[in-house]
Amino acid sequence: MNHSKNRRNFMATTVQSVGLATLGGMLWSGYSDSVKASPLVLRPPGALAEKDFLTACIKCGLCAEACTNRDTNIDKETGKARVGTLQMAKGGDSLLIGTPYFIPTEVPCYMCEDIPCVPVCPSGALDMPSLLNEKQELDINKSTMGLAVVHKESCIAFWGIQCDACYRACPLLDVAITLEYQKNDRTGKHAFLLPIVQDTACTGCGLCEQACVTEKPAIFVLPNDVAKGKAGDHYVKGWDSKDQERVGNAKAEVTTTELSKKNVNDYLNMELEY
Ligand code: SF4
Ligand code: SF4
Ligand code: SF4
Repeated sequence: MNHSKNRRNFMATTVQSVGLATLGGMLWSGYSDSVKASPLVLRPPGALAEKDFLTACIKCGLCAEACTNRDTNIDKETGKARVGTLQMAKGGDSLLIGTPYFIPTEVPCYMCEDIPCVPVCPSGALDMPSLLNEKQELDINKSTMGLAVVHKESCIAFWGIQCDACYRACPLLDVAITLEYQKNDRTGKHAFLLPIVQDTACTGCGLCEQACVTEKPAIFVLPNDVAKGKAGDHYVKGWDSKDQERVGNAKAEVTTTELSKKNVNDYLNMELEY
């Protein structure tokens, strides 16, 4: 089979890479340091945080094989497996060689219900427990491969042109992308229907990015670390009892410095001459 040949080629490439690493250790370590720094890669469902993933993944390719050979990937006309979502990084991909990733505009993740790519992972780099729901069943909706971000300036829905291509493509329609109605003050008689991504529900599958009609997608998936900000623990949502609970449970940390040992009046009166 074609993929077996590709797989043999891949294993051969990997072995060659390891051999080169032994011979040219310094060159290789410099290269892997630079590829480790690539923050924009999208990994398979259930992947550990990037740094831990790179340590855990043994580059066996079983996830990519399972993705290509999944039942839902059979071409109805030829009866053969089509190209899979997951690719294994090769030299020149600016990623750690042999690690799986995907590019939504080429092939997005189809959010297979049985998630065949994950249980086959022998190393725990794809963490099955993170994808279990309350019933202890594998649930692709729990995956967090990335977050879709809308670039308002190039999204034509924000210009007032009717387009809901991303909304329609989303497997979590009305959950991960919702449409928000807004009056168009420019024309006074039309409405905007704006795609809004819900960050707690979006899995980062990239189906919206692939479906986007603009020349370069106006909606695109970024890894969570890149797409999301962080308010910091000292900001509390007063209207959210869970957030208040979080702060209530926090342990105070007091740092004593030479200055803080002094009485506040001593401090305020320092260097004052009467
Ligand atoms: S869930 Fe996505 S990555 Fe996994 S097998 Fe299906 S299409 Fe491939
Ligand atoms: S199956 Fe797991 S260990 Fe093997 S390449 Fe995929 S992520 Fe890495
Ligand atoms: S990446 Fe796009 S299509 Fe996939 S869940 Fe998020 S919003 Fe929906």
